[in-house]
Amino acid sequence: MAGRLADIGEFGFIERIRRGCLVRKDGVVRAIGDDAAAFVSPAGELTLVTTDLLVERVHFLRDAAGGFALGVKALAVNLSDIAAMGGTAQAAFVSIGVPRDCPLDYLEELYRGMRHLAAEHGVNILGGDTTASKTDLVINVAVTGSVREEEMLRRDGARPGDVICCTGNLGDSRAGLHLILENIPADTPELAALVKAHLLPRPHLAEGRWLAACGAATAAIDVSDGLAADLGHILETSGAGAVIDAGALPLSENLHDFCRRFGKDPVDMALSGGEDYVLLATLCAERAREAADRFRQALGRPLHVIGEITGTGRLEVVTPDGRRRTAEARGWDHFKTGADHGDTRQA
Ligand SMILES: [Mg+2]
Repeated sequence: MAGRLADIGEFGFIERIRRGCLVRKDGVVRAIGDDAAAFVSPAGELTLVTTDLLVERVHFLRDAAGGFALGVKALAVNLSDIAAMGGTAQAAFVSIGVPRDCPLDYLEELYRGMRHLAAEHGVNILGGDTTASKTDLVINVAVTGSVREEEMLRRDGARPGDVICCTGNLGDSRAGLHLILENIPADTPELAALVKAHLLPRPHLAEGRWLAACGAATAAIDVSDGLAADLGHILETSGAGAVIDAGALPLSENLHDFCRRFGKDPVDMALSGGEDYVLLATLCAERAREAADRFRQALGRPLHVIGEITGTGRLEVVTPDGRRRTAEARGWDHFKTGADHGDTRQA
């Protein structure tokens, strides 16, 4: 239906989007429609809270992806943070500032995208706020979750000798962003898959829970800013260094194809790309191989061993020809300059 938020008002809008927000009724005492949400957290578990603010033209371009993908991504980035703590996601709260020129159809698609991903992960959307904005669309999503304290994955537990693993391909999202920013049509299945990796990231909640429960993980983080930057956060808080085996990085055939076509280096894409939303984890060395085998059996996907924690305090990368170079904390930053800045999410 064509129209603007002003035509139906905030309460009319809430009525329209609330259906399908409550997907798991157990423990929910009050949902959308009271002054505050009320729900019960699992007994004996810590409450996790994460929040992410997306501003049009800073983090996304409204028309590049469409409302559905923007809704999926706005929720996915928060679910990814719960995954990185080893938690189970519980409830989401969605606040939006809506400019006058934003069609109601776009907002309904936005919520449809959020409800779709929320339902897939058993997450209730339990509230939020809607307000007018002068020019830009602003979206804030907050997500709660829970985890047993002794299982919680933190950033500061990595120790020299630990094995560094990641739960999925690196660099695909950055390649997809390049295609979008350069207005290059994704006219092959390979390029389309890269754009999809950027627009519709899959939060690795099952992987995070598995790693938390396996007892071998010493630290974890999700890859939002790129392997070098996010591993850098683990190294900084853990007071450690690392060596990454460039030849072991999980790089998709689609990424190799893209890099051949557009003259990019796939290892650079992985190190400095960002927004892959896979998990990086460190595992104690004695249990890493067995954990990787069991991970594959349990989830049907590989846990990629990509390096080792060291005591050097530096992040080093070893290439297959044996060369060793030190990476900046921000990775190789040449992607993140000027208008092509890595903070410009496209969904
Ligand atoms: Mg994070």
